[in-house]
Amino acid sequence: MKLKALEISGFKSFADKTKIEFMPGMTGIVGPNGSGKSNIIEAIRWVLGEQSARDLRGTKMTDVIFAGAANRKPLNRAEVSMTFDNSDHYLKSDYAEVRVTRRLFRNGESEYRINGNQCRLRDVVSLFMDTGLGRESFSIISQGRVEAVFNSKPEDRRTIIEEVAGVYKYKQNKDKAEKELGTTREYLNRVNDIIAELE
Ligand code: ATP
Repeated sequence: MKLKALEISGFKSFADKTKIEFMPGMTGIVGPNGSGKSNIIEAIRWVLGEQSARDLRGTKMTDVIFAGAANRKPLNRAEVSMTFDNSDHYLKSDYAEVRVTRRLFRNGESEYRINGNQCRLRDVVSLFMDTGLGRESFSIISQGRVEAVFNSKPEDRRTIIEEVAGVYKYKQNKDKAEKELGTTREYLNRVNDIIAELE
């Protein structure tokens, strides 16, 4: 799976439709302060289903819509599309090219599409689950997140490392299984008591 292109329109500082094609060998995006580098990363997180306006440096989700500039009126719609080369079918989709789109209108209406077909947020989330590119994944690490890792307690840092290594979900499964085992043991003791009483 390869990221092919990102199209941004009406999202944050990108009032006009802007297409970024991720050609082989492209490793970074540079630009002066305030030119919109972080907005590009936020557009990627947003199209993948980010639900926290705060994590996108806003207070409400409609803050991502272009709010106007000195010589430009605000817009009423933000739209981001991300296209992946899925010829290896790494994403669980029959399509060799997958295009995910998210739209948000100023009245709060929103819409997700996968290859042009309207879908639910949960379809987008499940498409990227366990691919390392979901909205909660560590493929995208914001500046604040780096600081949070440095300042976190050793136990919390361990949890982060476990999540990255893919161990965390197994630990959670283990905890759940142990709890179920405990409950089953209690039931078994109760059954044994009843059997003893009957004998
Ligand atoms: P730095 O290098 O300082 O981190 P950057 O290149 O990452 O900067 P961004 O933080 O992506 O820059 O962009 C900030 C710019 O985006 C600001 O000029 C801000 O006014 C603009 N901006 C953010 N949200 C909106 C919005 N909803 N409408 C219009 N402009 C916006």
